[in-house]
Amino acid sequence: MKTLAAAEAARLPIMLTELRLPTIKRLWANLAEQSNREGWPAERFLGALLAHEMAERETRRMARARADSQLPPGKSLVEFDFAAVASVSKSHIMALAEADSWIAQGHNLLAFGPPGVGKTHLIAGIGHALVDRGYKVLFTRTSDLVQRLQAARRDLRLPAELAKLDRFDLLALDDLSYVRRDQAETSVLFELIAERYERKSIAITANAPFSAWDEVFPDKAMTLAAVDRLVHHATILEMNVESYRRKAAARTGRAQDGQQGRKPKRVRGDSNPIPRQNG
Ligand code: ADP
Ligand code: MG
Repeated sequence: MKTLAAAEAARLPIMLTELRLPTIKRLWANLAEQSNREGWPAERFLGALLAHEMAERETRRMARARADSQLPPGKSLVEFDFAAVASVSKSHIMALAEADSWIAQGHNLLAFGPPGVGKTHLIAGIGHALVDRGYKVLFTRTSDLVQRLQAARRDLRLPAELAKLDRFDLLALDDLSYVRRDQAETSVLFELIAERYERKSIAITANAPFSAWDEVFPDKAMTLAAVDRLVHHATILEMNVESYRRKAAARTGRAQDGQQGRKPKRVRGDSNPIPRQNG
C-alpha cells in the first residue's frame, strides 16, 4: 500500500508539469501531509490545492498585464491629490477608474493643460485601476507609437500592427502635442484613431488644445477628422492649474530658504484653452 502511494507520488510532479499547475506542484506535498495528519475529507484537500493554483494564476496574469501596460509605476490614483485640480471631480475620475461602461463602449478620455499639472499621472492612475480590474491597457508616448506605426507602414504591415493594438481595451497616448513635425508627414496616427473609433478607447494627454493639432496631422482636414472622432464620445478634462511640479519645488525651496523662499511664479493658464470646434 505504502509503495503504491509512493509510486503515485513520484508521478505527480511530472503530471503537474505536463498540466502546467506549478502552484499545486509546489504545494501538494505539504498540503497532503497536513491533510493526512488532520484527516481532511478528500474534497477539502482538492479544493485547497485548486484554490491556491487559481489565486496564483490570477496574480501572475495581473503582473503580466501590468508589465505589458508599460504604465509608469507609482502613478496611481491613491497618490493623486485631487485638491490640487479643482476642475477635475474625484468622483467622476473614480467612476472612470471603475470602467463604468466607457471602456466597453470605446469612449475616449482627453486631458489638457500646461506641463506639470498632473495629466500623465491622472491618466496613468486610471490605467492602473483598469489593470486592477482585469482590463488590458497600453501606455506609451505618442511619438514612440507614431514611430512604431510608421515603421510598420514602411514595411507594409500597418494593418497587422494596428490589429496588435486591438487587444488593448485602453490605449493611453501621452503627450500628443510632442509628435514631431516630421512625424506628421504620414497619417498613421489618424488611421489609429479611425480604426478604434466607437470600438476601443483612447486616452490622450496634450499641452496644446485642438487648435494647435495641425502640427500633429498632415493637413487641416485630417486634423478636423481626427478631433471629430476623438471628441464624439469623450470625457474632456481641462487641467488649467498651476504646475504641481513647480508648486512642490517651491515648497521645498521655501522650506530650505526659510522666510526668504521665493514664491512660485504664477503662470496664467490659457484663458481659452480649448476652442470647442466640434459640437
Ligand atoms: P503633466 O503630465 O501634466 O506634465 P505629470 O503628471 O507628469 O504632469 O505631473 C508632474 C509631477 O507632479 C509628477 O511627478 C506627478 O506625479 C506629480 N503630480 C502632478 N499633479 C499631481 C497631483 N494632483 N497629485 C499628486 N502628484 C501630482
Ligand atoms: Mg505628462
